[in-house]
Amino acid sequence: MINYPKVVLKKDKENSIKRFHPWIFSGAVARVDEGLEEGDLVSVYSNDDEFLAVGHIAIGSIVVRILSFEPVEINKDFWVERLASACRVRREIALLGIENNNVCRLVHGEGDSLPGLIVDFYAGTAVIQAHSVGMYLHRAEIAEALKEVLGDELIAVYDKSEGTIPFKSGIEPTNGYLLGEIKDFTAIENGLKFKVDWLEGQKTGFFIDQRENRSLLERYSKGRSVLNMFCYTGGFSFYAMRGGANLVHSVDSSARAIEVTNENVELNFPGDKRHEAFATDAFKYLDDSDQKYDLIVLDPPAFAKHKKVLSNALKGYKRLNLKGFQAIKKGGIMFTFSCSQAVSKEDFRKAVFVAAANAGRRVRILHQLNQPADHPVNIFHPEGDYLKGLVLYVE
Ligand code: SAH
Repeated sequence: MINYPKVVLKKDKENSIKRFHPWIFSGAVARVDEGLEEGDLVSVYSNDDEFLAVGHIAIGSIVVRILSFEPVEINKDFWVERLASACRVRREIALLGIENNNVCRLVHGEGDSLPGLIVDFYAGTAVIQAHSVGMYLHRAEIAEALKEVLGDELIAVYDKSEGTIPFKSGIEPTNGYLLGEIKDFTAIENGLKFKVDWLEGQKTGFFIDQRENRSLLERYSKGRSVLNMFCYTGGFSFYAMRGGANLVHSVDSSARAIEVTNENVELNFPGDKRHEAFATDAFKYLDDSDQKYDLIVLDPPAFAKHKKVLSNALKGYKRLNLKGFQAIKKGGIMFTFSCSQAVSKEDFRKAVFVAAANAGRRVRILHQLNQPADHPVNIFHPEGDYLKGLVLYVE
């Protein structure tokens, strides 16, 4: 029986953990062993001294993130087993080790029973982001275990936790390679090429979670004029071009993202004049332009990072979608998204519904979209279901 320092729950607070929810909130904790520091491994016990789980302790409202509901030691074998399981799933769903796609999410936190850890795979480089100090402290072991699981498929591991470790923890991580280094490579998604800059780019360098939604957009692009709002490095734009769009406008407030968008379009469609990109604020672009489009993508950053700012976020979605409806032609199609975990599917749909009503447009929902299979949701942790999208037919 493994003996990490103890976290003991209050009486009758073990129900959610017995249903495999991977978080313990501060309100459920009766006492914690002395001398514990953020990121330490702990064993969790009920008030009646029943073993419940092993996890990482943290400061904040989530006090423990559970790694195992068994009394196991968290050592290299543990990481190898969990990472092998995550990689096996990606192979089984044909996202890893296939020719026209060398990019996928290998580890999606709670969805892969590794709360606090994200690993994205880009053509031989695993980019890892620790969202908890516990995961950060294990980064070297995680990198080694990834190498053991992936063998020659893995050339480098880059740690990009600088912006994701909770700043209150007092740890000041610096980004850097934990293993190897790749300078020159081409990422390929569904046969389309693109540049990924994990050193300077947002998140791990690319928004892998929109892969299938981009594919769907390709199917609707033929002969349409497309506006890709919040385009980042142009993902939806190059799919629209392959789908036969007759014009594609990409908009993002980041000048660097627009530069990369242009490079990515050039990589796939050299010299193609159908595409133009604009580095400007999305709201300003929609206000200043009276151009109308056949297909509009609205994929803004998370407007609500916590529940507290929910009502402002919903106002933001209403305002943005209203502007989207005003810029769309009769018979147009809108792909509209929210990646805020704090905004439920129902809340988002309601915000879009209000926008449609205010715009006075008749709207059908054609598709209800979510995150792809390499961003799995742990059935015991519904909070992991974060990406929602609607494809609308607008009259
Ligand atoms: N659709 C993209 C991902 C979008 S991420 C893809 O498929 O890869 C959100 C993007 O919104 C980021 O690139 C960010 O730079 C941009 N952004 C944030 N605020 C913005 C604003 N007010 N106007 C325009 N772009 C904005």
